[in-house]
Amino acid sequence: MNLGIKRKNRLSEFTLREYGINGVLMAILFLFGLFLSWKLSTFAIFMYLLLWVASYFVIHATTCRNCVYHGKQCPVPFEGSCSHLTFDRGNNFGLFAGIGGLVAYFLRVCIPFVAIFESGSVLYFVLYTGVFLLFFYVLIYHTGCPNCINTKCPLNPDFSV
Ligand code: SF4
Repeated sequence: MNLGIKRKNRLSEFTLREYGINGVLMAILFLFGLFLSWKLSTFAIFMYLLLWVASYFVIHATTCRNCVYHGKQCPVPFEGSCSHLTFDRGNNFGLFAGIGGLVAYFLRVCIPFVAIFESGSVLYFVLYTGVFLLFFYVLIYHTGCPNCINTKCPLNPDFSV
């Protein structure tokens, strides 16, 4: 699965530039989600924050601990760079790692999408989905995957079956 991702560099550790760009986009996604949860209810804010924290444990346990960036600065804030604080290194970056990543991001966005559907706002849907997609577009095509050395990941430009 190459998706037309073009190799730029091979970084054994990501720099502040990639980390910063993804960090800003993730901060916007997080704060936008927090705002939408606040519009839903106080309980939704609590659940939103709880699920974000839980998402890091999920992605650390399944994806990051099995990635070459375990304990190193990867393209996404608080993932590879913090995974050594929660789980020891593994060596099984396969289907389970992919599913774990999907579950983690589902946990991060599920409450905001409930809030959007509850409000019926097309504007919020377009804006929030847009920020979410922009984050992944930049990560996959610019800052993350083109520079990544985790060749076990299907999104890596050097991945082969
Ligand atoms: S190829 Fe992309 S998605 Fe896969 S581990 Fe590297 S940065 Fe993450």
